[in-house]
Amino acid sequence: MSELSEEQIRAELDLILERRNADTRLTTMGAGSDDLNEGRSYLANTVNGGWHVPTWPEEHGGQDASASHNARIGRVLREFVVPDLYPFAIGLGMVGPALLTHGNSAQQREWLKPIASGESIWCQMFSEPEAGSDLANVALSAQQDGEEWIVGGQKTWTSRAMWADWAICLARTDPGQPKHKGLTMFALPMSLDGVEIRPLMQMNRDAHFSEVFVDGARVLDRWRIGDIGEGWRVAMTVLAHERAGGGSRGGGDGNARGLKLPSWIVDLQGLANEQSGAWRNQVANLYAHDATSRWTSQRAADEARSSGSPGPAGSGAKLRSVKSYKGRSYLTNMTSGAHGMLEDGHGYIETMTAPSMSIRGGTDEIQRNILGERVLGLPGEPRLDRDVPWSESRRGLI
Ligand SMILES: Cc1cc2nc3c(=O)[nH]c(=O)nc-3n(C[C@H](O)[C@H](O)[C@H](O)COP(=O)(O)OP(=O)(O)OC[C@H]3O[C@@H](n4cnc5c(N)ncnc54)[C@H](O)[C@@H]3O)c2cc1C
Repeated sequence: MSELSEEQIRAELDLILERRNADTRLTTMGAGSDDLNEGRSYLANTVNGGWHVPTWPEEHGGQDASASHNARIGRVLREFVVPDLYPFAIGLGMVGPALLTHGNSAQQREWLKPIASGESIWCQMFSEPEAGSDLANVALSAQQDGEEWIVGGQKTWTSRAMWADWAICLARTDPGQPKHKGLTMFALPMSLDGVEIRPLMQMNRDAHFSEVFVDGARVLDRWRIGDIGEGWRVAMTVLAHERAGGGSRGGGDGNARGLKLPSWIVDLQGLANEQSGAWRNQVANLYAHDATSRWTSQRAADEARSSGSPGPAGSGAKLRSVKSYKGRSYLTNMTSGAHGMLEDGHGYIETMTAPSMSIRGGTDEIQRNILGERVLGLPGEPRLDRDVPWSESRRGLI
């Protein structure tokens, strides 16, 4: 598709989407909602024009857009009602971009379009009880048996597992290699025999993430993503896209068209009985932080989309956007006074969700380690088990 002006994009989107207005309220990050339908019908509506993942190839549900055109589309999309795409975000923002880099053409043909259209939901089976920050310590094993792999072990904190059709799953295929080298990435259908999902309750009362137990599931070799032993490289691509916020377009609270202030500030003003100088100062600080955070995240996401190999900038973007989310959640909750302590209070769900933002996708401490080592060039952490065969290294060593 040729590059359209903002006016032309608006005209196209007017045909398929509703404009948002000052009263449009959206949930964020799935907090408090189990709705799949709104997201699914939005994606089904936008996939033919390639509007939600414009940088993807046209045949896979995009429009081969350049980074600058993609940014233009993103700006205009904020004027329309885009539902919370939390259930679809791993496919759209992490698995899809990783498949464009590491998937073969048969895999891209099979998986990308259903992701873009909302037909299939993906989850990410990386973390395990002893492999979180130290992700390379993954123990779930996959052993080759002809054209299949026999998979067994446990994953945990698997968001969206109960909705997912597929998981992108990191497995240990060679315990005799050092920990980063003996890993391979697979796509695993969640409906396979031997896959059991047990939801976990979070403190915001969502049960959106789970433990997943795998016992003798047979995974076809054609579902392997990348070469045998190259799983770490694929995992890093997935995580870099997660941190850069790729595909997280949607939901949120951008500015409704015509409003001079962002809608979250208008909401806050409505909640405040009294707008003291200190309160106004907090709002102004948050606004400034929020704006720079959004620009920086946008830059990291554009870089990720256009280069296909996002770098450590995503870690900075993640730290800033987490701070922004927390600041807005806590201020909204505090401003609503005693009612904010109740489950239906303003900012309650977000306040209960906010601490998890510093953990999911890699903790704040890990993002700072990445920035220290890969951006500032500081000395690396001691890594004693780096060259030792995984089977001989101490499990759980951080
Ligand atoms: C809401 C939510 C959703 C999630 N969704 C998914 C998902 O879909 N798929 C998935 O695979 N995982 C998911 N996770 C898991 C997440 O990636 C891990 O929780 C995270 O990487 C931290 O690992 P851990 O919980 O094992 O903590 P640990 O690694 O045990 O860390 C404990 C503490 O030690 C600190 N620490 C550890 N190592 C270092 C170090 N080297 N330097 C400094 N500090 C350190 C950490 O910062 C943390 O404060 C999710 C987590 C949450 C909270």
